[in-house]
Amino acid sequence: MQEEQIARGLADKIEKLAAGKEIKIMHVCGTHEYTITKSGIRSLLPKNVKVVMGPGCPVCVTPQAEIDAIVELAEKGKVICTYGDLLRVPGTKSSLYDSVGDIHIVQSISQAADYAREHPDREVVFMAVGFETTAPTTAAVLLTNPPDNFSVLVSHRLIPPAMKWLMEQGEANLSGFLLPGHVCTISGSEEYGQFKVPQVIAGFEPLQVMYGLYMLVKQIVEGRAEVENAYASAVKKEGNLKAKRMLSEVFEVCDIMWRGFPVIPSSGLKLKPQYEKYDALKKYGITLKGGAETRGCLCNEILRGVKDPVDCKLFGKACTPLKPVGACMVSTEGACRIWYTYGKAV
Ligand code: SF4
Repeated sequence: MQEEQIARGLADKIEKLAAGKEIKIMHVCGTHEYTITKSGIRSLLPKNVKVVMGPGCPVCVTPQAEIDAIVELAEKGKVICTYGDLLRVPGTKSSLYDSVGDIHIVQSISQAADYAREHPDREVVFMAVGFETTAPTTAAVLLTNPPDNFSVLVSHRLIPPAMKWLMEQGEANLSGFLLPGHVCTISGSEEYGQFKVPQVIAGFEPLQVMYGLYMLVKQIVEGRAEVENAYASAVKKEGNLKAKRMLSEVFEVCDIMWRGFPVIPSSGLKLKPQYEKYDALKKYGITLKGGAETRGCLCNEILRGVKDPVDCKLFGKACTPLKPVGACMVSTEGACRIWYTYGKAV
């Protein structure tokens, strides 16, 4: 009850601050979307303050070309280890779930490497998706010198270059960003200072999100463009230096395609030459190809913050979590899946 009163108090302040203005805020985090939708935060905000989810779900931004590649590896007889979220993500012809292959759901890359150690006669491929938060775990395992029958389809992406791309396009007409606390625990707040746009790093509890939104609206209205930290208990300016060291030891930055976006410069990670023996694409001679999005699916626009899940004619009808048409309905971090499960809350 006390929490609700505090939330309503913050909503009132936001309404007063934003009076007479149109404000559009993007967050880039599935967990933020979960909190916002499940706790009905959008219903507390005034109509002129809109909050949209951008490319913050790692499974959703994995393009069809990479799904096609992992399906191809499965069909070639490799053991595929993956997170459960990826299983039903559609590729051009099939998802891993619908493919013919030996697919193992794992909780971590360590489990996949252990499976490879225990089965030296099998070729094991781990599909490594995720942003700055999960890439260090991939690096940590590769630094332990896993067996030669183990490899990785690297599908890691970096959030700041996608934000930069979105701002340069101007398509979503954004006023500012609510930054993901967990990504910032690794990357730190410093590198976001390059963007001359209002930004606030926020935690994941409903009140933390509300407070982050309040700080952001205040910053926008006051005409400032800074990185403010509303999650100082976890996020330091310099980030997690140990994790960053591991990342730079194993990976180098590369240009990479995102679902819903073109190739975004310097937004991906690829293995450095000394770790290339673990690169599943190179090891098995797989080439990534482009592929058109499923007809009628608006995932591309949703990931760029220009459409909402309910704008899609298939939402909740032809497309549900049990029968997903697009990636945003598959992952528990996807906007469509969250809106379907916890209510539209717009
Ligand atoms: Fe794509 Fe389904 Fe979302 Fe529509 S509801 S945008 S088809 S994932």
